[in-house]
Amino acid sequence: MARMGYGEEHEAFRRTVRTFLDREHEPYLKHYEAAGGLDREFWRKAGQAGLLGLAHTGGGDFTFYAIMSEELGRTPGTATTGSSLMADVATYILVNHGSDAQKDKYLAGILTGAWTQAMPLTEPSVGSDATAIATTALRDGDDYVINGEKYFISNGSGANLLYVVAKTDPSKGGRGMSVIIVEADTPGVSQAKIPMIGWRQGDTGALNFDNVRVPASNLLGVEGGAMKILMDTFLEDRIQIAARCLGAASRAFELTLDYVKERKVFGQRVIDFQNSQFVLAECRADIKITETMVDTAMIKLRNGEFTFEDGAILKLWATQMEGRVLDKCVQLFGGAGLMDDNPISRMWTAARIQRIYAGTDELQKVAIARGLMQ
Ligand SMILES: Cc1cc2nc3c(=O)[nH]c(=O)nc-3n(C[C@H](O)[C@H](O)[C@H](O)COP(=O)(O)OP(=O)(O)OC[C@H]3O[C@@H](n4cnc5c(N)ncnc54)[C@H](O)[C@@H]3O)c2cc1C
Repeated sequence: MARMGYGEEHEAFRRTVRTFLDREHEPYLKHYEAAGGLDREFWRKAGQAGLLGLAHTGGGDFTFYAIMSEELGRTPGTATTGSSLMADVATYILVNHGSDAQKDKYLAGILTGAWTQAMPLTEPSVGSDATAIATTALRDGDDYVINGEKYFISNGSGANLLYVVAKTDPSKGGRGMSVIIVEADTPGVSQAKIPMIGWRQGDTGALNFDNVRVPASNLLGVEGGAMKILMDTFLEDRIQIAARCLGAASRAFELTLDYVKERKVFGQRVIDFQNSQFVLAECRADIKITETMVDTAMIKLRNGEFTFEDGAILKLWATQMEGRVLDKCVQLFGGAGLMDDNPISRMWTAARIQRIYAGTDELQKVAIARGLMQ
């Protein structure tokens, strides 16, 4: 049955993404593991397949990103290689806030995969309290000079186009934060990958900016405008994460269903135990509820009705749902569910990440509770 709120162009795009991941991602996982992650060739092929620059090519319809994210979640391999293609969401920042000169310089290369993007905000000692960042970008003649460290940055070690969030006026707190475009080969920029559990071959990076000098024209939007720029894509970001949770939980459920129909214990299939049936029923209910939530969110977003509270509820629910479902799937697999070469084990560890990044569970609850106290 067709999903609520998706047109034929969306379903065609879903097929394109699925075909691309089946063809260019899953078969090369061992290669990417040996290479330490996805390479530039992957991005180039993604560009050729029309998967990049969607904020520009998709005419502002966020549904294309939600589909890409859900399909990434569905592909067990991305539990190893991480959010990868979703770094493309940063294109919104350029499309919505960049100057004509900035768009002329970067958009074409974003579409082909020549420019790959990252959004460094978080620092080693500052995460949830984003306005406390210490990185500065101070005016010196016609330039900004950037100093500071960024940590836990998606696509951080491989991206060559960085939207660095820094304080252009440290005396103004959050209102003194700006976004500055930095090309990663600018002298003084260093990038490294941080090893982590989950997304083992993904790119979560640490960046250092040591007297990095860029022209003042690299300011994105206006000075002091970083929080507005970040807030502008907050709602979309919540939906793409929820869509990814939905994809991962759905695929894990399918893999588990296949397994419990095959595996025999005490002379019967694991699915023949009533406990297994009940657990699977709970998972199915969780997934269907989340599917409705994601699809409704897309429709509300399109109509300008998706609120900040809606986004917080969606992220809190969907990330916890993914964790619940993956945990139950691992349990139904038994010991096999914990083996490294079993996709379920990696999907389980990858699910844990979702409740931390882009605003932890606790921060979502703070956002929901704030509305209740008014
Ligand atoms: C895989 C991955 C990718 C990431 N990608 C990016 C990226 O691309 N760009 C970027 O800038 N950042 C990125 N991050 C950083 C991410 O956004 C932060 O990890 C997240 O915001 C939490 O910050 P923190 O880790 O410093 O935790 P902290 O802020 O130190 O929080 C520690 C604990 O305190 C709790 N806490 C904090 N405030 C409150 C409160 N008010 N009430 C109750 N509890 C509270 C938190 O919920 C958490 O449990 C990424 C992180 C990961 C793991």
